[in-house]
Amino acid sequence: MIAAAAAGAAAAAILSARWNWWRPRVQGLPTLMYHKIGDCPPGSRLAKLWVTARDFRGQMQYLKRHGYTSLLFSELREAELGRRPMPAKPVLITFDDGYANNREIALPILQETGMKGNIFLVFETVGAHNAWHDPAGEPWLRMLTWQDVDEMQRGGSIEFGSHTMRHPNLAKIPLDQVRWELFESKKRLEEKLGREMVGFAYPYGAGAFVPEVRRLALEAGYRYDFSVKQGISPWPWGRDSGPLKRLLIRGDDYKFDFHLNMTRGRARL
Ligand SMILES: [Zn+2]
Repeated sequence: MIAAAAAGAAAAAILSARWNWWRPRVQGLPTLMYHKIGDCPPGSRLAKLWVTARDFRGQMQYLKRHGYTSLLFSELREAELGRRPMPAKPVLITFDDGYANNREIALPILQETGMKGNIFLVFETVGAHNAWHDPAGEPWLRMLTWQDVDEMQRGGSIEFGSHTMRHPNLAKIPLDQVRWELFESKKRLEEKLGREMVGFAYPYGAGAFVPEVRRLALEAGYRYDFSVKQGISPWPWGRDSGPLKRLLIRGDDYKFDFHLNMTRGRARL
């Protein structure tokens, strides 16, 4: 009995030292951040950014089981404007970069579980490959094509946002180039897709907290700018409170991590 109590205390101590289960529950707009769905290829040094189909399906099933309603960017905007009710338990599912595996692997799972997602495209890499990566650390991968983008948008389960023209680090390039990356990608995507681009994600999260960079993002006309800062932003959200936070879903996450992310805004310490 004493041994059992000691073992219980030890387990609680380990759980407390590693995970955030003891934090208060957070309300707001949980926004999941994914990149690549599928099996991590040999030679990748970014294994944590690959989530297997099996894990992704489990995470979408969790959302369904717990009564979450996933939103497209346009639906979020309409809810903000009072043109549609905000669901009781909203969630935004986002994918950075625009990999072909988002269509081939993630989309069927979204459809199977009744979820909707939003993909941030790098304009000049559509139909090409992840040119901003060093192939020594991440192999070349196929990106979505314009035909994919068009068909996915018409399918109604996916919408798109901007992730710049070429995926630079916006905190490290001159402001006139930052301006071009932000304005040009919005304009070109809107021409191609025939709808307003309300969402923008900073590549690497860089520049989200650099006032001159963020000012340009808002000036370009994006309604929602997404950082990689871990957490759940409150809803209603005000632009003045800073860019929206997201929940990085990692390839080595346990189901418990996902639960803590959704309810506490972070998983591990
Ligand atoms: Zn990116």
